[in-house]
Amino acid sequence: MKAAQKVAPAGRTSLARGFTPLEQRILLSKGLSEQQLGDLYDAGVRGKQDFQTVGDATTLAEISGLPAELAEKVMLWALGQPAAAAAENEKVVVHSADAVVCVHCGALQPKDHKSGDMCVACGKQAEPVMACFWCGGTGPGKFCRQCGAEVLPTAELELGILLKREGVAKGEIPEKLRHMTQAEKDVLWGRARRY
Ligand SMILES: [Zn+2]
Ligand SMILES: [Zn+2]
Repeated sequence: MKAAQKVAPAGRTSLARGFTPLEQRILLSKGLSEQQLGDLYDAGVRGKQDFQTVGDATTLAEISGLPAELAEKVMLWALGQPAAAAAENEKVVVHSADAVVCVHCGALQPKDHKSGDMCVACGKQAEPVMACFWCGGTGPGKFCRQCGAEVLPTAELELGILLKREGVAKGEIPEKLRHMTQAEKDVLWGRARRY
């Protein structure tokens, strides 16, 4: 806070004339010296929106010579709390493996949620509708409602269809895919494309 009160009324502050008085005050309160404010200006950072262009603290430190710690503080302010807060939220929102989150509105469904139940928040089908690799039926949930086959991740649907065509049993296909390495899957993809 002391730094903010030391803003020189004239002279050096003109170095940073690209910044509004409020921006200057904030930057000074972050611990920047007027010299560093001038360095920012020389580096071409002349307003809050220029920090958007800079993008991250490392780049800011590189172009302006600000110490990394200071650059970090400045970027945190300049890029706004929402970005930082959003990153925080992502870390916090870790649901257990079988928690169901609505595909439409993102609301977490109650523990007693059953496949096919409507979302408690928006009333739509909460789970994604998946296609069955075995019978081609579609529906929500982890198992096909028509034939009982385990539902594969969408990305592996085609591989499941291929394995079926090659004669692998219904119950073995999801298991088989789970145990495949990426290289083995790539080979399979090669085969899938030949059909
Ligand atoms: Zn919903
Ligand atoms: Zn099915």
